[in-house]
Amino acid sequence: MMKQPIYEGKAKMMYTTDNADELLVYYKDDATALNGLKKGTIGNKGTMNNKISAFFFNLLSQHGIAHHFIRLVSDREMLVKSLEILPVEVVVRNISAGSLAKRIGWEEGRKMPQTVVELYYKDDDLGDPMINHYHIRALGLATDEQVHAMEEMALKINEILSAYLLTKKIELIDFKLEFGVHKGQVLLGDEISPDTCRFWDSETKQKLDKDRFRRDLGDVEEAYKEILRRLTGEEL
Ligand code: ADP
Ligand code: UDP
Repeated sequence: MMKQPIYEGKAKMMYTTDNADELLVYYKDDATALNGLKKGTIGNKGTMNNKISAFFFNLLSQHGIAHHFIRLVSDREMLVKSLEILPVEVVVRNISAGSLAKRIGWEEGRKMPQTVVELYYKDDDLGDPMINHYHIRALGLATDEQVHAMEEMALKINEILSAYLLTKKIELIDFKLEFGVHKGQVLLGDEISPDTCRFWDSETKQKLDKDRFRRDLGDVEEAYKEILRRLTGEEL
C-alpha cells in the first residue's frame, strides 16, 4: 500500500492510501494534556488505543452507528473512511468530573441527574473553547442538521457504551467524540479510548484512563492494559 503522511497530530498520524476515500491512522505513544503544555509518552499506548478503538467501533456497528472504521491493518494502524472533520467536539457526561466538576462547583463522582452534552470548538490555538448552537451557526462550523445528527448519535453511543462497559465492571464517566462528513453522511470519526474517555472501575472507583497521566497518579500504562484486557481478554 502506498502511504503518504498528510497530518501529524498529538496522538496519531494520518496517511493517504491508494484509495482516495480511505486513510490510514497510525496510533502513537505520545500523550499530551493541559492543551499541549504537559507532554510525555505512555508505553504501548498506540497499540492499546488502536485495539481498544477498533473494539468499540465494532461494538457500535452491531448497534447501527455509522462510523469511519474499516479494519485493523497492524498493531498500531487502522484503515478508516476519509472524513471532512466537523470542527466541533462533542462531550457526553454521566458523572461529574474534570472541567464540568470545576465549572458547576460539584465534587467529582456525582451522578448527573440528566445526561449532559457539551460542544467544543476544535481549535488548538484557542484551546478548544466550549461553544453553543448559536456560535456554531454564527461561525458556520456545521449545519443545524449536522449538529442534531451529532448530538443524537452521541447520546445513542453513550447508551451502548455505558451498558456494555458495566458488564465489564467499568463506569463510563464521560467521553469526547469527533464526527465528520463522508459522501454527505455524518459519521463518527477519530478514536474511542482511555485518551478520550473517563473509565472508572465500578466497584473501587479506580481511574482507568488518561487522568492517571494528567494528574500524575502513576500506573498509567497499567490502566490502559486493564481496559484492553477487560474488553478483549487480550494481555499486552
Ligand atoms: P489532534 O489533531 O487533536 O492532535 P490526533 O493526534 O488524534 O489529534 O490526530 C488525528 C487527527 O485526525 C485529528 O485532527 C482528527 O480530527 C482527524 N481525524 C480523525 N478521523 C479522521 C478521518 N476519518 N478522516 C479525516 N480526519 C480524521
Ligand atoms: N476530552 C478529550 N479531548 C479533549 C478534551 C476532553 O478527549 O481535548 C475528553 C476527556 O478525556 C474526558 C471528556 O472529554 O473524557 C471531558 O473532558 P473535560 O472537559 O473534563 O476536560 P479535562 O479537564 O479532562 O481536560
